[in-house]
Amino acid sequence: MDLCDARTIKDIMTMFGLTFRKEFGQNFLTDKGVVADIAVSCDTGSTKTVLEIGAGCGSLTHELAQRYEKVVAIEIDRGLIPLLKYTLSEHKNVELVNADVMKTDIGGLLHEDFERGGVSVCANLPYYITTPILLELLGSGLPFDCITVMIQSEVADRLCASAGSRDYGSVTAYLNYFGTCKKLFNVPAGKFLPPPKVDSTVVRIDMYKDKPYKPKDEKLFFRTIRAAFEQRRKTLPNALSAGISELPKEMLTEAIVSCGFAPTVRGETLSTGDFCRLSDVISDMIAENGNK
Ligand code: SAM
Repeated sequence: MDLCDARTIKDIMTMFGLTFRKEFGQNFLTDKGVVADIAVSCDTGSTKTVLEIGAGCGSLTHELAQRYEKVVAIEIDRGLIPLLKYTLSEHKNVELVNADVMKTDIGGLLHEDFERGGVSVCANLPYYITTPILLELLGSGLPFDCITVMIQSEVADRLCASAGSRDYGSVTAYLNYFGTCKKLFNVPAGKFLPPPKVDSTVVRIDMYKDKPYKPKDEKLFFRTIRAAFEQRRKTLPNALSAGISELPKEMLTEAIVSCGFAPTVRGETLSTGDFCRLSDVISDMIAENGNK
C-alpha cells in the first residue's frame, strides 16, 4: 500500500468513513521522496526512539518505523486510530497514542526511552499549532537529541533568523537558548492532500547537551526576552520597563549601557547571549535593590 499516493489516501479515508479535518491541520504528504527525506533527517547517528506528532494516515510513521527501533506516534483525531492500525499493521515497533500532544505527559510516556537515550522528534506539524508545540517541546526540559519538523516556511524563517534581521523575534532568541536551528529543504504546497495555502520548510533543531548560556535567573532571562519583543517598536529601556517592574527605567537603562549597548538600542538586535548577560545584570540589580 502506497500511503503517499493521493488516490490511495482518499480511498482509505473513505473506507474508514473519514474526511480531512481542517481544524486539526490535516494536510497529508503525497510525495514518497519527501517523506523519506524527513524520516532520514531526524537521525543523529544514535537515534533509537522517534516521537511523531500527528500521524495522519501513517506515511511518515511507516518510514520512521522502517528506520528506527521504536516510534511513538501521537494523533489527536480519534477517527484516524483504526485507520492507522490498518495502515501500520506490519510494524510491531509503533506505539499509537490517541491524544492531544499539548495535554500529553511526554516525559512519562517516554520515560524508559529517555533513560536509554537517543530520542528525537520527527513530525509534519499541524500549522494551526506549530509554535505552541515547539515552545512546549523546548521548554519541557526533556532530553531530546533533535527536533525535526516540517512547518510553514514563514515560521521557519523566524526560527532560523539572525539577530537584527526582520524575522528575528522572541521565539528565535528563546530557541537559541536550547539549541541550533537549521533549514533543511522546502516543500511546495502541491505535495500535500489537500494542499495548504502556504509553502513548507523542514527544519532541524539540534538540542544542546550542555547549554552555552547559563543565566543566573532563568525565569528573569525569559521575562527579559519577552519584554524586549512585546513592545518591538520601543527602545529597549522603554520595552523592559513595561515588563520588569522591579526596577525603575533609569536602572534598566544603566543595565543596558553596562552591557555595552546604547540606551537607544532595540531588543531585536540582541542575541540570546546578549539577553543572558543583560538579565544577569538586571538580576544583580534587583538583588541589590532589595537589600537596600
Ligand atoms: N504525518 C502526516 C503526514 O505527514 O502526512 C500528517 C500530518 S498533518 C499536517 C498533521 C496531523 O497532526 C494530523 O493528522 C492531525 O490530526 C494531527 N494533529 C493536529 N493537532 C494535533 C495535536 N494537538 N496533537 C496530536 N496530533 C495533532
